Amino acid sequence: MGRHVYVHNPFCVRKCPYCDFYSITDRSLAESYYKAAMAEARFWAEFGKKAVSSDDGGPDTVYFGGGTPSCVPADLVCKLLETITDSFGIGPDAEITLEVNPASFTEEKGRAYLKSGFNRLSMGIQSLDDAILKTLGRLHDSKGALTSLDSAFEAGFTNVSADFITGVPGQTVEGMLKDLQTVLGKGVKHISTYSLMIEEGTLFFERYKGNIEELVPPETDRAMYHAVRGFLKDNGLIPYEISNSAVPGFESRHNTAYWDGRDYFALGAGAHGCLNSVRFGHYDNVESYIKSAGTIKEDEVSRLLGLGGDVLDSIEGLLYCEERLGLEDKMREYPFLKLRTTKGIDVAEFERRFGKGFEEVFAGELKSNVEKGLLMIDGSHIALTERGLDFANLVMEDFL
Ligand code: SF4
Repeated sequence: MGRHVYVHNPFCVRKCPYCDFYSITDRSLAESYYKAAMAEARFWAEFGKKAVSSDDGGPDTVYFGGGTPSCVPADLVCKLLETITDSFGIGPDAEITLEVNPASFTEEKGRAYLKSGFNRLSMGIQSLDDAILKTLGRLHDSKGALTSLDSAFEAGFTNVSADFITGVPGQTVEGMLKDLQTVLGKGVKHISTYSLMIEEGTLFFERYKGNIEELVPPETDRAMYHAVRGFLKDNGLIPYEISNSAVPGFESRHNTAYWDGRDYFALGAGAHGCLNSVRFGHYDNVESYIKSAGTIKEDEVSRLLGLGGDVLDSIEGLLYCEERLGLEDKMREYPFLKLRTTKGIDVAEFERRFGKGFEEVFAGELKSNVEKGLLMIDGSHIALTERGLDFANLVMEDFL
């Protein structure tokens, strides 16, 4: 137990104008894609037993993200999960999450997902203001989002998370808090909020390049961020990470494994994983994935992961090595990841993992950020201050 598996569904009904995740809209390939992913799941399960022990002692987690996993037939998603559960021997107390889009989620699908083992839904609501949803180019309106949310509970899910986007032109703090109030009233136990980012290569980049800061000044975005955190806290959801708040006990275990720097398996085109201290990615190409996932070879993967033979940097059409992490890299990555969390850096754990004192390795970085009021030391933990949250990226990068 204690393995983590990420699955990437690269299909969407339509590309949202702000999105730079890998996804395609030709869903005719979904069946062959899911078949290929089943083959890859079986491969990793066997490989995991023989060659990489990624067990961290906690419960297993499986996370189907995307793309839009709910826009392909539910039986494909369910069969892939069943293959993963059987081949990896996923434990009965596992957290198994599925990302869904309100526009393609139905109660009937929800029942099928639940039956196959999913026990957590993450729904991309983004906003309950129709004008904002229109700006974001979403396929659903607020009524559709609320109907889908009701359907999730009616299907039997009790652990439901909702995603929201903040900092959208035209959005107000009052409107945002009203949306949150509404979904909390429906029984949502976990909220993720992400500031709108204008990424190169998206339609929003063309539309807003150069003027997003005029439309949404950074101080407005930050004010909304703090108002949201405060509101959620007042309503019993603890902000446990920069973008995530949850009713205690409903924190995402899968994402927590990432922030803990744990190893995790990854399946599917565009999916990224980390095993044996090697960060690897799958090429963003559904066609080549379908051709190569079924013929993945053990010796090539061993070489890619530095487990024997001459080191390999890529496996044609399928995988490539992003980074081989040495001890020094892992030491630097630890504060980078942990500072995302409210608990922050656990000094004792750092010493256990790396055999060195945190304050000794990062004396300069720590001193300057504490002096600037961006970090605080609380017993054996070091975390961002309220002010530090506004400069989180700068502080985290300081440790890299
Ligand atoms: S539905 Fe999600 S993954 Fe698909 S294009 Fe929109 S934001 Fe991106």
